[in-house]
Amino acid sequence: MKYTINGITLELIRGDIASQQYITAVVNAANAELRIGGGVAGAIHRAAGTGLEKECKPLAPIRPGEAVITGAHNLPNKYVIHCLGPVYGVDKPEDELLANCYRNALKIAEEQGIDSVAFPAISTGAFGYPLEPAAETALHTVVAEAKKLKSVKLIRFVLFGERDLEVHRQLLDGIIEKMS
Ligand code: ADP
Repeated sequence: MKYTINGITLELIRGDIASQQYITAVVNAANAELRIGGGVAGAIHRAAGTGLEKECKPLAPIRPGEAVITGAHNLPNKYVIHCLGPVYGVDKPEDELLANCYRNALKIAEEQGIDSVAFPAISTGAFGYPLEPAAETALHTVVAEAKKLKSVKLIRFVLFGERDLEVHRQLLDGIIEKMS
């Protein structure tokens, strides 16, 4: 699904964040230590190879809402932007910290002159953030930021499951409808 907001393309697809061809930067739903883990971080580090963990080591630890950038090593991208999402019920306020992940990732992308960024649904796996409120925060934040972007022209949400995709699609349809 493709949407255009202020000249920025917003895409929702079902897929694997570690196999996004023709995307300059992929976002990692990282852990504080920027180590290989499960879910997104596991898939990204496995595909990138051990060079990624080595590059990450001096940048860790990061705090909830923070983002840092590295090279993408063996991934089919140029960069990985690592974001630490909030652990639901622990890191508060969750919605603010989650919004900061998306804002900070896009800020870094702009600073680096990056044209395309792919996000997973940060915090909705091991960190326990319920899908709908997480998607609502993610989409509202990205739509609001889209108005300010100069360098980033494509933002893709890579959702793992059919329900994840459907929830994002319905919410984004609603947001776009309200805007017009
Ligand atoms: P967090 O620790 O921030 O919750 P996870 O990696 O556990 O991050 O999960 C975040 C979301 O990404 C979940 O919805 C999960 O289903 C999904 N996910 C897991 N693996 C992948 C992958 N390879 N590509 C895209 N999304 C993934």
